[in-house]
Amino acid sequence: MEELKNFSVTAERLQQLNDKELKEGGKYVVYWMQESMRAYENPALEYAIRWANDLDTYCVVVFTLIDDFPEANLRHYKFLIEGLKEAADRITERGIKFILLHGPRAEKIAGFVKENDVCAVVTDRAYTRHERKWRSDAADKLEVPLVQVEGNVVVPVETASDKQEYAARTIRKKIMGKVEAFSQEVTETKPDKPSKRVHLSGDMELNSVSGVLDQLKVDRGVKPLDEFVGGTSEARKHLTAFLRSDLKGYADGRLEPAEDATSHISPYLHFGHISPCEIYRKVNDSSAPKSDREGYIEELVVRRELAHNFVWYAPDTYDSLEAVPDWAQETMEKHESDKRPHHYTREELENGKTDDEAWNAAMKEMRERGFLPNYMRMYWGKQIITYTNTYQYAYETTLYLNNKYFMDGRDPNSYTNVLWLFGLHDRGWTERDVFGKLRTMTRGGLDRKYDVEAYIERVKG
Ligand SMILES: Cc1cc2nc3c(=O)[nH]c(=O)nc-3n(C[C@H](O)[C@H](O)[C@H](O)COP(=O)(O)OP(=O)(O)OC[C@H]3O[C@@H](n4cnc5c(N)ncnc54)[C@H](O)[C@@H]3O)c2cc1C
Repeated sequence: MEELKNFSVTAERLQQLNDKELKEGGKYVVYWMQESMRAYENPALEYAIRWANDLDTYCVVVFTLIDDFPEANLRHYKFLIEGLKEAADRITERGIKFILLHGPRAEKIAGFVKENDVCAVVTDRAYTRHERKWRSDAADKLEVPLVQVEGNVVVPVETASDKQEYAARTIRKKIMGKVEAFSQEVTETKPDKPSKRVHLSGDMELNSVSGVLDQLKVDRGVKPLDEFVGGTSEARKHLTAFLRSDLKGYADGRLEPAEDATSHISPYLHFGHISPCEIYRKVNDSSAPKSDREGYIEELVVRRELAHNFVWYAPDTYDSLEAVPDWAQETMEKHESDKRPHHYTREELENGKTDDEAWNAAMKEMRERGFLPNYMRMYWGKQIITYTNTYQYAYETTLYLNNKYFMDGRDPNSYTNVLWLFGLHDRGWTERDVFGKLRTMTRGGLDRKYDVEAYIERVKG
């Protein structure tokens, strides 16, 4: 693997995942797209085009679609395919062939490479266990190099820190010191040999979103959404509206649930429809007040990339209570048998049948909108600790509902923030019943800070 000369994708973003040799005289460099489903500011795509140009070969893009992505349902798939269609159309406009394969990811890409004259494969980076496994399986099966290019965080995870960080305060300086260098625009490379007419075919045509969805055997139990439509242009619409509003007074206003005054960009980040570097630059260069810009960058870069740091360095435990610090384990052990003030079944919770109207409104917003403002996510999750009889069941229920309904669920942010409810990246607080030393959130606190009636009214519509 080489760092390509005079090129905006630098060595820190690159890793060769196997030790196979480049196939001399091969006809194609494949970009195996999985996480960065976009045609703009996608370092893996630009790297593949540039590599193909240097080798005097064609670049082609291959996406492998599976029916059973863990915990994904129709809501997520529709958004994914919308974004993928826009990416495929733009890639084709750039003269590059886009191929959609359907079936087990590693086997499919290895089969495609074997049957066609491919000299090397480039892919993008992901963090969760199954995504890592697909890449390592493909790395083993392929007879050609597999190079991974990191494009979904601003600062590559190992460059930001070489270990699991304890909290935002321990990673902030490290990451913010590097953010300028790593947020530069990735310049577009023109393919020297356009591949769009080469004779290669996939398993499915991507002519329409519904046409692809109809062919998939996916969980259809959760209804798709109108508010969030996938794709880079939709992501940019949300971002532009947010920038035009001067970041909506983010520093002070972001937590007010009734106002919902945030960027709504998390689903697009999750599906790789927009680059975090693009968001960072546009926010940083905007004329919004400094406190709002800094407040936003704290979330987009420090908190989001702390979540990536956690999932990357805790691959076996990021979705388990085992991952929380010792003080949190000890306090949960001590308070495990405290009497909970309520007891609801998972079904009652899912249907919003508690005696707290604000909590029920949050659950309704999750189910029907696939989204919740940040403060309501915290409040919603903290209450589940008091609604169930063990921490383990509270944790499992929260993660299950989070990943089932949120458009941005199943993300490093999901695992990290659900564990935050149980002490991850936090500190011990004054000891209380049920919560022990975990940070407490109560309905009284919610009422004191925010206009809860206005929130409930907003959700009622
Ligand atoms: C219990 C709980 C569960 C959560 N589940 C998810 C989830 O499944 N997926 C998800 O993406 N986020 C999750 N979050 C984090 C956060 O609430 C959302 O990222 C944010 O509300 C998304 O809205 P936005 O894009 O308008 O955010 P904005 O406030 O506009 O922030 C911009 C971006 O910064 C990042 N960000 C914001 N807040 C956080 C945070 N606390 N931690 C890490 N990154 C952050 C996100 O990428 C977000 O898109 C959860 C938080 C809690 C407390």
